[in-house]
Amino acid sequence: MTNSKKIYIETYGCQMNVSDTEIVRSILSKDGYQFINSPEAADVILLNTCSIRENAETTIHKRLANLNTIKKENENLVVGILGCMAKQSGRKLLQTNDMVGIVAGPDEYRKLPELITNCFEGIKGMAVNLSRIETYDDITPLRTEGVSAWLTIMRGCDNFCSYCVVPFARGRERSRVSSSLISEIEKLTEQGFREITLLGQNVNSYKCPESGDSFSTLLEKSAAAGQGMRIRYVTSHPKDMSPELIEAMARNHKICNHIHLPVQSGSNDVLKAMRRDYTKERFLELTKLIRSNIPDASITTDIIAGYPGETQQDHEETLELMQEVQFDGAFMFKYSPREGTKAFKVEDSVPEEEKAHRLNEIIQLQSEISKLSNLNEIGRLHEILVEKPSKRNRDEWVGRTDTNKTTIFPNKEGSYKAGDFVNLKITRSTSATLFGEVVQV
Ligand code: SF4
Repeated sequence: MTNSKKIYIETYGCQMNVSDTEIVRSILSKDGYQFINSPEAADVILLNTCSIRENAETTIHKRLANLNTIKKENENLVVGILGCMAKQSGRKLLQTNDMVGIVAGPDEYRKLPELITNCFEGIKGMAVNLSRIETYDDITPLRTEGVSAWLTIMRGCDNFCSYCVVPFARGRERSRVSSSLISEIEKLTEQGFREITLLGQNVNSYKCPESGDSFSTLLEKSAAAGQGMRIRYVTSHPKDMSPELIEAMARNHKICNHIHLPVQSGSNDVLKAMRRDYTKERFLELTKLIRSNIPDASITTDIIAGYPGETQQDHEETLELMQEVQFDGAFMFKYSPREGTKAFKVEDSVPEEEKAHRLNEIIQLQSEISKLSNLNEIGRLHEILVEKPSKRNRDEWVGRTDTNKTTIFPNKEGSYKAGDFVNLKITRSTSATLFGEVVQV
């Protein structure tokens, strides 16, 4: 079915939203909508939003303000808010911002065709119910061409960490059926994808509702199904990281040796206040177990600076833990109070400038650690998956190592294309990037 209406989608936040946008494209393409890459010519503009921190929401408010110029030129333009802001502040947006005609939450995307049709007839609409069962299992995401594909294996989260909006914005945990995931991986192999990343807020607690498959079982089945493919996964939760999973990674070379393991803080008092359900000692044990089973593994993390009640001593314990673990990389943020979360009810006691000061110390330390970690790569051989030309120099191309490190190499003759696996010897590095030359092994 075709219709002449053009849709422009802008995606913010995490990979879950990137994957959800592909599901939204699939749902709307069935109604014949066409997708375009610029808002100016659109009949429908959808913003797939993030609500993890305050500035994520501020970004959307600013974006809506500058999209107003397009609305002035096209009064029939339909603007919709998707993603985590929908549940968190969708009603207020719909009531207070004339631009917004549709609000749809992460479990309600099947209703988008109807909401859009109604909105063209002047009826604004909102659908933000959370579901205990919705996994869009029967919908094949409309993926953009490329070598890497995201595959959402579960939705929602049951952990309710004190600072996090995800369980409120995305609902309770539910896993997709492993057999349908495996057949999707087989199709992706046929379509020429070379890498799949299994996605979930907390993939370690994946459990197939039909077979009972655990995450490590699903990971091994995925590796077996993905011919000539690399398998990655994100995000783990330390409390559910199991020796079985680490052993499955160690014995299967197609499962990439990179683990993203958010620690958030190095202080047991803060971890308790955050309801993270593990201690720093347990976290350190886990990183030792990972490194003893997978010596070349890279471990990255997330860290929050300035959580309510965090003392200077707590902050120093975070720096000490970073020194001890030597993460290969980290996402580092200041604590941002989020309405509806447990922490929101606690006084945000660490002053903004002190939060900024602690965050800077964490960022500086991590930059030194990443620099050292990448310096140690010089002289090593790595098989990389070639992705695209380097933005800076078209004669150089970019790819990633099995350990998820961005690597640049010369490809003047164009001998290598996206999707190729190439062996490189690392010749130099910065804290963020490796540089290598092609070697025959
Ligand atoms: S594990 Fe915690 S931080 Fe992660 S999505 Fe769930 S509630 Fe949020």
